[in-house]
Amino acid sequence: MNYYIKDATLVNEGQTFVASVFVSDGKIAKIVKDGEVGPSTSSGTLAPSTKVIDATGKYLIPGIIDEHVHFREPGLTHKADIYTESRAAVAGGVTSFMDMPNTVPQTTTQELLQQKFDLAAEKSLANYSFYLGATNDNLDEIVKTDPKRVCGIKLFMGSSTGNMLVDKNEVLVRLFRESPCLIAAHCEDEQTIHENTVCCKDLASKGEVILDASIHPFIRTTEACYKSSFKAVDMAEKFGARLHVLHISTQKELSLFRNDISLKDKKITAETCPHYLWFDNSNYEEKSFAIKCNPAIKSHRDKEALLQALREGVIDTIGTDHAPHLRDEKFTGDYFTSKSGFPSIQHSFELMAHVLQKDLPLLVQLMCHNPAILYQIDRRGFIREGYYADLVLVDMDEGQMISDKNEYSKCGWSPYDGIQTHSRITHTFVNGNLVFEKGIFHEEERGARLCFNR
Ligand SMILES: [Zn+2]
Repeated sequence: MNYYIKDATLVNEGQTFVASVFVSDGKIAKIVKDGEVGPSTSSGTLAPSTKVIDATGKYLIPGIIDEHVHFREPGLTHKADIYTESRAAVAGGVTSFMDMPNTVPQTTTQELLQQKFDLAAEKSLANYSFYLGATNDNLDEIVKTDPKRVCGIKLFMGSSTGNMLVDKNEVLVRLFRESPCLIAAHCEDEQTIHENTVCCKDLASKGEVILDASIHPFIRTTEACYKSSFKAVDMAEKFGARLHVLHISTQKELSLFRNDISLKDKKITAETCPHYLWFDNSNYEEKSFAIKCNPAIKSHRDKEALLQALREGVIDTIGTDHAPHLRDEKFTGDYFTSKSGFPSIQHSFELMAHVLQKDLPLLVQLMCHNPAILYQIDRRGFIREGYYADLVLVDMDEGQMISDKNEYSKCGWSPYDGIQTHSRITHTFVNGNLVFEKGIFHEEERGARLCFNR
């Protein structure tokens, strides 16, 4: 099916203008600016099979590229799977995702990585790529990674997730020297976290603190983040690695990144996530373990500084860190047993549109253009003729109430339940296929594997 998206307001590359977009064979075939003569059915230049979508009053943006998700497949599919979460993704205007390796089994070999690509080819409604996980003993697998076909290597830098903690210095040095593609790092210092845990348990035993959700930023502290991020940046500079530090949550870490060079020339980049821009430590009382995540959500001052860093180009991208757990895994039990992470991919656009005060050019830059530039993704992330037709129509006048009842993620709940948004995604195209249309999914086609121009 070909589409003619008529009279939309395009938001692309810093500009906002009325135009119509002709989608043919999965690509953006033509952009016709307001006033120019475009193809039409009456003149015979538009094939009769072309479906016209009247987009008057709506905004057309490039599909969102979410560089940081946990879709839990294989092995943890009671929480989420590639089909259910890619559905939530396209409902949220996300047309491409990059999934993390802390599944069961962990994605630490080329063979296991290929198995994930095979699963996605069968099940994903959005375009996809997968990270290979680094361990203390899989360098031989890492160096085999094809940078044109795989988004990156995930490094848990000083933070343990199963056996994916890389804590041997000689391994880190070789990884930073020899990785054939981008290293995406989770930076929190395990030793600091351990010491804080011991200290808080001791205080709790004396009745001086209560181990509820609000203790989280006192265990997973600013210092834990800074110490680990500092080390990662230091090593990347020493050994010439391409480093992307994930989910920055503190003001202090911002000093490690720069904005005096263009993104395409940066070798060290940074991401933050919607929840660090939406919540702060004043929300623990109401939300409790719903907003427990790693790194922890920190202070109001951190939140404001992160927002400023996005505006100034110190932080380059927004990734969701969409990490579903079942309600039971979050809310039964105590601080130590409650799982960290929560779903968010379905609402990232609306939440960020609100946080950025409807500054759509900035939102598009942070969530569409910059991930495409940073990962050097082939022909996506922009509305350009010849690019893949990953496109999203947005109504900026009509919001909706976020509700657990409307959650497409398998876990069926959201930490944003009860929040009124002021925009909504109406149409999502993936490779020119209309996969989401006003609450209805068209699931005939599957997304494609992302390719990288490296
Ligand atoms: Zn994550």
